[in-house]
Amino acid sequence: MSQIGTKRSILCLSLITIFASSLWAQTNPKSGALALDKGDFKVGYSPADLAQGPKKPMPADERAILKEIADALNGLIALPKDVYLNFDTCNEANAFYSPDTTEITICYELVDQFDREFKTITKDQAKVDSMVEDTIIQTFFHELGHCLIDVWDLPATGREEDAVDQLATVIMLDGSKEGQVSAINAAIEFDIASRGETKGTMLFWDEHSFSKTRFYDMLCLVYGSDPKKNAGIVGPRGLPSDRAVRCETEYKRAERAWMRLLAPYILP
Ligand SMILES: [Zn+2]
Repeated sequence: MSQIGTKRSILCLSLITIFASSLWAQTNPKSGALALDKGDFKVGYSPADLAQGPKKPMPADERAILKEIADALNGLIALPKDVYLNFDTCNEANAFYSPDTTEITICYELVDQFDREFKTITKDQAKVDSMVEDTIIQTFFHELGHCLIDVWDLPATGREEDAVDQLATVIMLDGSKEGQVSAINAAIEFDIASRGETKGTMLFWDEHSFSKTRFYDMLCLVYGSDPKKNAGIVGPRGLPSDRAVRCETEYKRAERAWMRLLAPYILP
C-alpha cells in the first residue's frame, strides 16, 4: 500500500508536470539542447544506491506518479546523465539530491511531518492533504534545482538553498490560480515550521535560511509575480510593506536568472 497516501496526492503531484511545462514553454528552446541530452529522469533507486543494499520496492501508485513526472521532464530538459526519482524511508524528515548517486529522494518521514504540521492549523483532512501535496511539489522543485546545478555545473552565487527555493517558487508561479495557491501553501509550511525555531535551536551555521525567512521570501515572490492580484498578501499578518516594495523586482530577477541559466538545456 502506498505510504504517501491518497488519490489526491497523485492528482496534485501531476501538477508538477503542468507547472514545469507551462513555465518552460515561455523560454526559447535551443535546438543545441538535443545534442546535450544524454540522460533521462528515471523512476526508482540508482544502481549505485541499490549496490549498497536491498531496497523495498516502491508501491505501484507511487511509481506511477514519479513516471508521469519523469516523462514530462524528459520532454522538457536535457540531462547529461540519468537522474533517479524516488520516495524512501530515510530515518529523518528530509528530502535530498545526492550528487554521488544522482538521485532525488523525498522521504516518507517528511510527508508525515508536513501532515502533522498542517493538522495544527486545520482539522479538515482534505485541506491538510492538499497543503501537504503543495509543499511536496515545492520540495520536489527545490531538489530538482540542486540536481540541475550539479549535473550542468550551473553557476549559483549566494546560498544555493535560497537559489533553489527561488527556482521552485518561480516554477510554481506559472500564472495559474493553482500555482499561486500551491506556492502560498508551501510558504505556510515554513511559517508553521518556524514555530519550532527558538534561540536555543536556531543553527546560525546551517546552509538553509531560517524557516521564517523562507516563508517571507516565498511570499515576496508570490506577491512580486503579480502585485495587483496578490495585494491581499501585504499587511501586518502577511508580507510587511517594507519588503513588498522590492518584490516585483525580486521576482523578475529570480525568474530571469533561472530561465537564462536553464535556457541552453530546454528541449525544443
Ligand atoms: Zn536544499
